Amino acid sequence: MIIIHNYLLDNKTNPDFFYVRSRETIHCPNCEDRLKVIGSRKRGLIEYSGERRALIVRRLRCLGCGRVHHELPDIIVPYKRYSSEAVELIITSSNTETEDYSCELSTAVRLKLWFFLLRDYFKNALISLTFLYDYDIELRDEINSLIPCIDSRSGVTGWLKKLVRFLVNSGRWLHTRSA
Ligand SMILES: [Zn+2]
Repeated sequence: MIIIHNYLLDNKTNPDFFYVRSRETIHCPNCEDRLKVIGSRKRGLIEYSGERRALIVRRLRCLGCGRVHHELPDIIVPYKRYSSEAVELIITSSNTETEDYSCELSTAVRLKLWFFLLRDYFKNALISLTFLYDYDIELRDEINSLIPCIDSRSGVTGWLKKLVRFLVNSGRWLHTRSA
């Protein structure tokens, strides 16, 4: 699994599906070798408005270690049905606004709980990445700016998709059963 942030969503050939076309060169998150496209897969996504989208994401095989990765655009949070924007809005909203959710209240509660339970893990994973990337001041500053967002769950819009990208691409994403 790899999260990309520079891509096109193209639905010209088939209006029912958005084809994800990466505009970045990505390397294997496991061994950093080159990747080869070997196919594609369908992936559903629900927006905050409740609108559903079908994406076609590419399957890639590493020429070095042979692992298969899916190339996911950063509107996706792995193993979640809602878009990263929707998840961010849901987990940052206060409890008094619960009537405003476009999703089921139980979904919102599960997502909030998921984030609450993982927030220390997220913080520690980001801190470990600042040490890993200490040779790159710009990258380190970007990661550092995300750490306070976890507690305040606010600040920069789009902080969740950045957090997801850093954790997934460094192999630190956890697959949990909740939400
Ligand atoms: Zn590899």
